[in-house]
Amino acid sequence: MGADGKVQICYDFTKGMCTRGDKCKYSHDIATIVHFNSREKGICFDYLRNQCHRGLLCRFSHDLSNIAQQCQLVC
Ligand SMILES: [Zn+2]
Ligand SMILES: [Zn+2]
Repeated sequence: MGADGKVQICYDFTKGMCTRGDKCKYSHDIATIVHFNSREKGICFDYLRNQCHRGLLCRFSHDLSNIAQQCQLVC
């Protein structure tokens, strides 16, 4: 874990459930989490319909360039 220099994101934090705050050993960095989400997860269909209330902590990608890319495959 962490041997390759990658930051482990806090899965609890992405779900808004981390109670460890600053003492948490995992990353709470929004940019890291958003990047991770857009790389690992599919696009957010709620976001496409303007109905996503999860914002930056959404488990799915809100990256519009990523959405356009996947849309070419799906749509
Ligand atoms: Zn945490
Ligand atoms: Zn979303």
